Amino acid sequence: MAFSLQARIVFPVDRPSIEHGVVTMEGERIMALGGAETAVGKAYDLGDVVILPGLVNTHTHLEFSDLKRPLGQAGMRLVDWIRLVIAERNRRTDCPIDSIAAGLLESVTAGVTTIAEIATADAASYALGKPVELMLLAEVIGFSRARAAAAITAVTERLDALQRRNDSDPGGLPRNTWQLGISPHAPYTVSPELLRQLVELARRRNLPVAMHLAESAEEIELLAAGTGEFQELLDERSMWDAAAIHGGSRPLDYLRLLAEAPRALVIHGNYLEADESDFLAARAERMSLVYCPRTHAYFGHPPYPLADMLAAGVRVALGTDSRASNPDLNLLAEMRHVARIHPTIDPHAIVRMGTLAGAEALGLDWRVGSLTAGKLANAIAVPLPPGATGSPQEMLAAVLANADRPSAVWLRGREVVSPP
Ligand SMILES: [Zn+2]
Repeated sequence: MAFSLQARIVFPVDRPSIEHGVVTMEGERIMALGGAETAVGKAYDLGDVVILPGLVNTHTHLEFSDLKRPLGQAGMRLVDWIRLVIAERNRRTDCPIDSIAAGLLESVTAGVTTIAEIATADAASYALGKPVELMLLAEVIGFSRARAAAAITAVTERLDALQRRNDSDPGGLPRNTWQLGISPHAPYTVSPELLRQLVELARRRNLPVAMHLAESAEEIELLAAGTGEFQELLDERSMWDAAAIHGGSRPLDYLRLLAEAPRALVIHGNYLEADESDFLAARAERMSLVYCPRTHAYFGHPPYPLADMLAAGVRVALGTDSRASNPDLNLLAEMRHVARIHPTIDPHAIVRMGTLAGAEALGLDWRVGSLTAGKLANAIAVPLPPGATGSPQEMLAAVLANADRPSAVWLRGREVVSPP
Protein backbone atom coordinates (compact mmCIF):
# COMPACT_ATOMS: atom_id res chain seq x y z
CA MET A 1 0.00 0.00 0.00
CA ALA A 2 1.52 3.30 -1.08
CA PHE A 3 1.74 6.34 1.22
CA SER A 4 3.26 9.79 0.85
CA LEU A 5 5.40 11.94 3.15
CA GLN A 6 5.23 15.68 2.69
CA ALA A 7 7.95 17.99 3.99
CA ARG A 8 9.20 21.56 3.76
CA ILE A 9 12.26 20.23 1.92
CA VAL A 10 13.03 16.88 0.35
CA PHE A 11 16.72 16.41 -0.32
CA PRO A 12 17.20 13.39 -2.59
CA VAL A 13 21.03 13.96 -2.85
CA ASP A 14 21.27 12.67 -6.44
CA ARG A 15 19.21 15.62 -7.76
CA PRO A 16 18.29 19.12 -6.58
CA SER A 17 16.20 19.61 -3.44
CA ILE A 18 12.44 19.93 -3.72
CA GLU A 19 10.70 22.60 -1.64
CA HIS A 20 7.38 21.41 -0.24
CA GLY A 21 8.29 18.02 -1.67
CA VAL A 22 6.73 14.61 -1.42
CA VAL A 23 8.30 11.16 -1.08
CA THR A 24 5.99 8.27 -1.93
CA MET A 25 6.81 4.80 -0.65
CA GLU A 26 5.26 1.50 -1.61
CA GLY A 27 6.23 -1.72 0.14
CA GLU A 28 10.02 -1.71 0.65
CA ARG A 29 10.72 0.75 -2.14
CA ILE A 30 10.56 4.40 -3.00
CA MET A 31 7.87 4.78 -5.61
CA ALA A 32 8.07 8.44 -6.59
CA LEU A 33 9.44 11.86 -5.70
CA GLY A 34 8.18 15.29 -6.58
CA GLY A 35 5.77 18.06 -5.66
CA ALA A 36 2.38 17.77 -3.93
CA GLU A 37 0.75 16.57 -7.16
CA THR A 38 2.80 13.36 -7.05
CA ALA A 39 1.33 12.12 -3.72
CA VAL A 40 -0.26 8.66 -3.84
CA GLY A 41 -2.26 6.96 -1.07
CA LYS A 42 -2.50 8.36 2.46
CA ALA A 43 -0.49 11.58 2.78
CA TYR A 44 1.35 12.56 5.98
CA ASP A 45 2.41 16.18 6.32
CA LEU A 46 5.58 16.22 8.44
CA GLY A 47 5.78 20.01 8.48
CA ASP A 48 9.08 21.86 9.02
CA VAL A 49 11.49 19.03 8.42
CA VAL A 50 14.04 18.02 5.81
CA ILE A 51 13.69 14.49 4.46
CA LEU A 52 17.05 12.93 3.66
CA PRO A 53 18.05 9.42 2.57
CA GLY A 54 18.87 7.04 5.44
CA LEU A 55 22.47 7.67 6.51
CA VAL A 56 25.38 5.39 5.59
CA ASN A 57 28.00 4.69 8.27
CA THR A 58 30.96 3.24 6.40
CA HIS A 59 33.08 2.34 9.41
CA THR A 60 32.32 0.91 12.81
CA HIS A 61 33.13 -1.93 15.20
CA LEU A 62 29.80 -2.69 16.89
CA GLU A 63 31.36 -5.07 19.43
CA PHE A 64 32.24 -1.98 21.52
CA SER A 65 28.76 -0.41 21.41
CA ASP A 66 28.19 -1.02 25.13
CA LEU A 67 31.02 1.33 26.15
CA LYS A 68 29.69 4.38 27.96
CA ARG A 69 32.66 6.50 26.93
CA PRO A 70 35.72 6.12 24.70
CA LEU A 71 38.69 4.17 26.08
CA GLY A 72 41.53 6.25 27.50
CA GLN A 73 41.54 9.99 27.06
CA ALA A 74 41.47 12.50 24.22
CA GLY A 75 44.85 13.21 22.69
CA MET A 76 46.40 9.89 23.66
CA ARG A 77 48.70 8.07 21.26
CA LEU A 78 47.01 5.51 19.03
CA VAL A 79 49.38 2.77 20.12
CA ASP A 80 48.49 3.28 23.81
CA TRP A 81 44.80 3.24 22.91
CA ILE A 82 45.33 -0.05 21.04
CA ARG A 83 46.78 -1.54 24.23
CA LEU A 84 43.51 -0.56 25.96
CA VAL A 85 41.46 -2.14 23.14
CA ILE A 86 43.44 -5.39 23.48
CA ALA A 87 42.86 -5.38 27.26
CA GLU A 88 39.16 -4.65 26.73
CA ARG A 89 38.86 -7.56 24.27
CA ASN A 90 40.65 -9.89 26.68
CA ARG A 91 38.30 -8.85 29.47
CA ARG A 92 35.30 -9.90 27.37
CA THR A 93 34.78 -13.62 27.38
CA ASP A 94 31.36 -13.91 25.77
CA CYS A 95 30.37 -13.22 22.21
CA PRO A 96 29.43 -9.49 22.19
CA ILE A 97 25.91 -10.22 21.02
CA ASP A 98 24.17 -7.71 23.35
CA SER A 99 26.65 -5.02 22.49
CA ILE A 100 26.12 -5.50 18.76
CA ALA A 101 22.33 -5.46 19.19
CA ALA A 102 22.64 -2.22 21.20
CA GLY A 103 24.82 -0.69 18.48
CA LEU A 104 22.37 -1.63 15.73
CA LEU A 105 19.49 -0.12 17.69
CA GLU A 106 21.46 3.04 18.49
CA SER A 107 22.41 3.40 14.81
CA VAL A 108 18.85 3.10 13.52
CA THR A 109 17.57 5.56 16.12
CA ALA A 110 20.23 8.02 14.89
CA GLY A 111 19.04 7.59 11.29
CA VAL A 112 21.76 5.21 10.10
CA THR A 113 20.18 2.63 7.79
CA THR A 114 23.33 1.18 6.17
CA ILE A 115 26.38 0.07 8.18
CA ALA A 116 29.80 -1.24 7.16
CA GLU A 117 30.95 -3.24 10.15
CA ILE A 118 34.38 -4.66 10.87
CA ALA A 119 33.12 -8.04 11.99
CA THR A 120 34.91 -10.02 14.67
CA ALA A 121 31.91 -11.76 16.22
CA ASP A 122 30.16 -14.81 14.83
CA ALA A 123 27.29 -14.60 12.39
CA ALA A 124 24.52 -15.14 14.95
CA SER A 125 25.29 -11.80 16.62
CA TYR A 126 24.11 -9.91 13.57
CA ALA A 127 20.88 -11.81 13.12
CA LEU A 128 19.07 -9.88 15.83
CA GLY A 129 19.07 -6.41 14.42
CA LYS A 130 16.57 -4.32 12.58
CA PRO A 131 16.68 -4.82 8.81
CA VAL A 132 19.47 -2.31 8.29
CA GLU A 133 21.72 -2.93 5.31
CA LEU A 134 24.83 -4.50 6.79
CA MET A 135 28.16 -4.99 5.14
CA LEU A 136 30.08 -7.43 7.32
CA LEU A 137 33.81 -7.14 6.67
CA ALA A 138 35.51 -10.12 8.30
CA GLU A 139 38.54 -8.84 10.22
CA VAL A 140 41.91 -10.49 9.62
CA ILE A 141 45.04 -10.14 11.77
CA GLY A 142 48.35 -11.87 11.04
CA PHE A 143 51.60 -9.95 10.95
CA SER A 144 54.29 -12.62 10.81
CA ARG A 145 54.55 -14.34 7.45
CA ALA A 146 54.33 -17.70 9.24
CA ARG A 147 50.73 -16.90 10.20
CA ALA A 148 49.49 -16.03 6.72
CA ALA A 149 48.26 -19.49 5.71
CA ALA A 150 46.32 -19.98 8.96
CA ALA A 151 44.79 -16.52 8.63
CA ILE A 152 43.56 -17.25 5.09
CA THR A 153 42.00 -20.56 6.20
CA ALA A 154 40.29 -18.90 9.17
CA VAL A 155 38.80 -16.01 7.18
CA THR A 156 37.60 -18.37 4.43
CA GLU A 157 35.74 -20.42 7.05
CA ARG A 158 34.23 -17.27 8.60
CA LEU A 159 33.07 -15.96 5.23
CA ASP A 160 31.45 -19.33 4.51
CA ALA A 161 29.69 -19.31 7.90
CA LEU A 162 28.41 -15.75 7.33
CA GLN A 163 27.20 -16.69 3.86
CA ARG A 164 25.34 -19.77 5.17
CA ARG A 165 23.65 -17.64 7.81
CA ASN A 166 22.72 -15.01 5.24
CA ASP A 167 21.25 -17.64 2.91
CA SER A 168 19.14 -19.10 5.69
CA ASP A 169 17.01 -16.05 6.42
CA PRO A 170 18.61 -14.95 9.70
CA GLY A 171 16.20 -13.97 12.42
CA GLY A 172 13.34 -13.48 10.00
CA LEU A 173 15.16 -10.65 8.21
CA PRO A 174 14.82 -10.33 4.45
CA ARG A 175 17.27 -12.63 2.71
CA ASN A 176 20.63 -11.28 1.66
CA THR A 177 20.41 -8.24 3.91
CA TRP A 178 24.11 -8.78 4.52
CA GLN A 179 26.84 -8.11 2.04
CA LEU A 180 30.18 -9.65 2.86
CA GLY A 181 33.70 -8.31 2.64
CA ILE A 182 37.19 -8.73 4.06
CA SER A 183 39.04 -6.40 6.40
CA PRO A 184 42.81 -6.82 6.63
CA HIS A 185 43.14 -4.87 9.88
CA ALA A 186 46.11 -2.50 9.38
CA PRO A 187 49.75 -2.44 8.22
CA TYR A 188 50.92 -3.09 11.78
CA THR A 189 48.83 -6.27 12.07
CA VAL A 190 48.75 -7.61 8.50
CA SER A 191 51.92 -8.24 6.46
CA PRO A 192 52.03 -7.12 2.82
CA GLU A 193 52.21 -10.80 1.82
CA LEU A 194 49.02 -11.64 3.75
CA LEU A 195 47.34 -8.54 2.29
CA ARG A 196 48.25 -9.72 -1.22
CA GLN A 197 46.65 -13.12 -0.52
CA LEU A 198 43.54 -11.51 0.99
CA VAL A 199 43.10 -9.29 -2.05
CA GLU A 200 43.40 -12.42 -4.21
CA LEU A 201 40.67 -14.09 -2.12
CA ALA A 202 38.52 -10.95 -2.48
CA ARG A 203 38.98 -11.10 -6.25
CA ARG A 204 37.99 -14.77 -6.40
CA ARG A 205 34.81 -14.05 -4.43
CA ASN A 206 34.18 -10.56 -5.80
CA LEU A 207 34.23 -8.98 -2.32
CA PRO A 208 35.19 -5.50 -1.12
CA VAL A 209 38.21 -5.01 1.12
CA ALA A 210 38.49 -2.42 3.92
CA MET A 211 41.77 -1.60 5.66
CA HIS A 212 42.84 0.92 8.31
CA LEU A 213 45.71 2.80 6.64
CA ALA A 214 47.90 5.84 7.30
CA GLU A 215 46.13 6.35 10.60
CA SER A 216 49.04 7.51 12.77
CA ALA A 217 52.56 8.91 12.55
CA GLU A 218 53.80 5.79 14.37
CA GLU A 219 52.45 3.60 11.56
CA ILE A 220 54.30 5.70 8.98
CA GLU A 221 57.50 5.19 11.00
CA LEU A 222 56.98 1.43 11.17
CA LEU A 223 56.58 1.24 7.39
CA ALA A 224 59.55 3.48 6.66
CA ALA A 225 62.05 2.20 9.20
CA GLY A 226 60.64 -0.86 11.01
CA THR A 227 61.03 0.98 14.30
CA GLY A 228 58.95 2.81 16.89
CA GLU A 229 55.95 2.15 19.12
CA PHE A 230 54.26 -0.36 16.84
CA GLN A 231 57.44 -2.41 16.48
CA GLU A 232 57.65 -2.50 20.30
CA LEU A 233 54.01 -3.51 20.63
CA LEU A 234 54.45 -6.34 18.11
CA ASP A 235 57.64 -7.48 19.82
CA GLU A 236 55.89 -7.49 23.21
CA ARG A 237 53.16 -9.69 21.76
CA SER A 238 55.64 -12.03 20.01
CA MET A 239 54.21 -10.98 16.65
CA TRP A 240 57.23 -9.12 15.29
CA ASP A 241 58.75 -10.38 12.03
CA ALA A 242 61.61 -8.15 10.95
CA ALA A 243 61.37 -9.24 7.31
CA ALA A 244 57.59 -8.81 6.94
CA ILE A 245 57.80 -5.18 5.76
CA HIS A 246 60.51 -3.91 3.40
CA GLY A 247 62.40 -0.87 4.71
CA GLY A 248 61.34 2.36 3.04
CA SER A 249 57.69 1.27 2.67
CA ARG A 250 54.83 3.75 2.77
CA PRO A 251 51.02 3.72 2.53
CA LEU A 252 51.28 3.92 -1.28
CA ASP A 253 52.67 0.36 -1.32
CA TYR A 254 49.49 -0.80 0.43
CA LEU A 255 47.27 1.30 -1.83
CA ARG A 256 48.82 -0.48 -4.82
CA LEU A 257 47.91 -3.86 -3.31
CA LEU A 258 44.39 -2.69 -2.39
CA ALA A 259 43.87 -1.34 -5.91
CA GLU A 260 43.77 -4.95 -7.14
CA ALA A 261 40.62 -5.67 -5.07
CA PRO A 262 37.19 -5.43 -6.72
CA ARG A 263 36.47 -2.54 -4.33
CA ALA A 264 38.54 -1.00 -1.54
CA LEU A 265 37.84 1.22 1.44
CA VAL A 266 40.82 3.02 2.93
CA ILE A 267 39.90 3.75 6.52
CA HIS A 268 41.22 7.00 8.07
CA GLY A 269 44.09 7.96 5.73
CA ASN A 270 45.03 10.71 8.20
CA TYR A 271 48.64 10.80 7.00
CA LEU A 272 48.30 10.26 3.24
CA GLU A 273 50.57 12.36 1.06
CA ALA A 274 49.55 14.21 -2.09
CA ASP A 275 50.65 11.46 -4.52
CA GLU A 276 48.70 8.96 -2.40
CA SER A 277 45.48 10.97 -2.54
CA ASP A 278 46.05 11.39 -6.30
CA PHE A 279 46.34 7.60 -6.51
CA LEU A 280 42.93 7.28 -4.80
CA ALA A 281 41.39 10.01 -6.94
CA ALA A 282 42.51 8.27 -10.14
CA ARG A 283 40.70 5.12 -8.96
CA ALA A 284 37.67 6.73 -7.29
CA GLU A 285 35.31 4.31 -9.06
CA ARG A 286 36.61 1.43 -6.95
CA MET A 287 38.65 2.99 -4.12
CA SER A 288 37.22 5.26 -1.43
CA LEU A 289 38.52 7.03 1.61
CA VAL A 290 36.64 6.74 4.90
CA TYR A 291 36.99 9.79 7.14
CA CYS A 292 36.00 9.30 10.79
CA PRO A 293 35.81 12.97 11.90
CA ARG A 294 35.30 12.74 15.65
CA THR A 295 37.70 9.81 16.04
CA HIS A 296 40.27 11.83 14.10
CA ALA A 297 39.69 14.68 16.56
CA TYR A 298 39.86 12.33 19.59
CA PHE A 299 43.46 11.40 18.79
CA GLY A 300 44.44 14.99 18.00
CA HIS A 301 45.88 14.24 14.54
CA PRO A 302 46.90 17.22 12.36
CA PRO A 303 43.96 18.81 10.46
CA TYR A 304 42.34 16.45 7.96
CA PRO A 305 42.89 17.72 4.40
CA LEU A 306 39.26 17.10 3.48
CA ALA A 307 38.84 20.04 1.11
CA ASP A 308 42.01 19.03 -0.77
CA MET A 309 40.88 15.40 -0.99
CA LEU A 310 37.49 16.38 -2.39
CA ALA A 311 39.06 18.87 -4.80
CA ALA A 312 41.48 16.17 -6.02
CA GLY A 313 38.49 13.95 -6.81
CA VAL A 314 38.84 11.40 -3.99
CA ARG A 315 35.55 9.78 -3.03
CA VAL A 316 35.26 10.47 0.70
CA ALA A 317 32.68 8.67 2.84
CA LEU A 318 32.08 9.07 6.58
CA GLY A 319 32.29 6.69 9.51
CA THR A 320 31.74 6.96 13.24
CA ASP A 321 34.33 4.28 14.08
CA SER A 322 33.42 2.56 17.37
CA ARG A 323 32.40 3.78 20.78
CA ALA A 324 35.94 2.92 21.89
CA SER A 325 37.10 6.19 20.24
CA ASN A 326 33.84 8.12 19.76
CA PRO A 327 31.05 9.06 22.18
CA ASP A 328 28.27 7.53 20.06
CA LEU A 329 27.31 6.03 16.67
CA ASN A 330 25.48 9.13 15.47
CA LEU A 331 26.53 9.78 11.85
CA LEU A 332 24.56 13.03 11.70
CA ALA A 333 26.80 14.27 14.52
CA GLU A 334 29.83 13.42 12.32
CA MET A 335 28.33 15.45 9.47
CA ARG A 336 27.75 18.35 11.86
CA HIS A 337 31.31 18.07 13.13
CA VAL A 338 32.54 18.27 9.50
CA ALA A 339 30.37 21.36 8.93
CA ARG A 340 31.91 22.98 12.01
CA ILE A 341 35.58 22.28 11.39
CA HIS A 342 35.57 22.41 7.57
CA PRO A 343 33.41 25.53 7.05
CA THR A 344 34.41 25.90 3.38
CA ILE A 345 32.77 22.61 2.39
CA ASP A 346 29.26 23.06 1.17
CA PRO A 347 26.37 21.41 3.05
CA HIS A 348 25.28 19.46 -0.02
CA ALA A 349 28.74 17.82 -0.23
CA ILE A 350 28.63 16.99 3.49
CA VAL A 351 25.23 15.32 3.20
CA ARG A 352 26.46 13.47 0.12
CA MET A 353 29.44 12.10 2.09
CA GLY A 354 27.08 10.75 4.76
CA THR A 355 24.71 9.13 2.27
CA LEU A 356 25.35 8.51 -1.44
CA ALA A 357 29.17 8.61 -1.34
CA GLY A 358 29.05 5.97 1.42
CA ALA A 359 26.69 3.80 -0.62
CA GLU A 360 28.95 4.16 -3.66
CA ALA A 361 32.02 3.32 -1.59
CA LEU A 362 30.32 0.08 -0.52
CA GLY A 363 28.97 -0.69 -3.99
CA LEU A 364 25.42 -0.46 -2.63
CA ASP A 365 24.31 2.69 -4.43
CA TRP A 366 22.03 0.65 -6.69
CA ARG A 367 19.75 0.13 -3.68
CA VAL A 368 20.50 2.79 -1.02
CA GLY A 369 22.14 6.19 -0.55
CA SER A 370 19.66 8.53 -2.24
CA LEU A 371 15.93 9.13 -2.44
CA THR A 372 15.42 7.63 -5.86
CA ALA A 373 12.44 5.75 -7.26
CA GLY A 374 13.19 2.02 -7.10
CA LYS A 375 15.73 2.20 -4.25
CA LEU A 376 14.93 0.93 -0.75
CA ALA A 377 12.58 3.22 1.17
CA ASN A 378 15.19 4.21 3.78
CA ALA A 379 14.74 7.83 4.82
CA ILE A 380 14.97 10.19 7.78
CA ALA A 381 13.18 13.39 8.76
CA VAL A 382 15.33 16.00 10.51
CA PRO A 383 13.62 19.02 12.12
CA LEU A 384 14.47 22.46 10.76
CA PRO A 385 15.48 24.93 13.47
CA PRO A 386 12.55 27.18 14.42
CA GLY A 387 12.24 30.11 12.04
CA ALA A 388 14.70 28.69 9.47
CA THR A 389 14.23 30.45 6.16
CA GLY A 390 16.13 30.96 2.92
CA SER A 391 17.18 28.73 0.08
CA PRO A 392 17.16 24.94 0.45
CA GLN A 393 20.96 25.21 0.65
CA GLU A 394 20.70 27.62 3.60
CA MET A 395 18.17 25.42 5.32
CA LEU A 396 20.43 22.39 4.88
CA ALA A 397 23.22 24.45 6.49
CA ALA A 398 20.83 25.31 9.35
CA VAL A 399 20.09 21.61 9.91
CA LEU A 400 23.84 20.90 10.06
CA ALA A 401 24.36 23.77 12.51
CA ASN A 402 21.59 22.42 14.72
CA ALA A 403 21.71 19.46 17.12
CA ASP A 404 18.27 17.84 16.77
CA ARG A 405 18.11 14.12 16.17
CA PRO A 406 15.97 12.67 13.37
CA SER A 407 12.32 12.91 14.38
CA ALA A 408 11.42 9.94 12.19
CA VAL A 409 13.26 7.09 10.45
CA TRP A 410 11.93 4.73 7.79
CA LEU A 411 13.59 1.40 7.09
CA ARG A 412 12.38 -0.39 3.97
CA GLY A 413 9.19 1.67 4.06
CA ARG A 414 8.43 0.99 7.73
CA GLU A 415 8.59 3.75 10.28
CA VAL A 416 10.94 2.63 13.06
CA VAL A 417 11.37 5.92 14.90
CA SER A 418 8.27 8.10 15.14
CA PRO A 419 7.88 11.85 15.49
CA PRO A 420 7.23 12.75 19.17
ZN1 LIG B 1 38.35 1.12 12.95
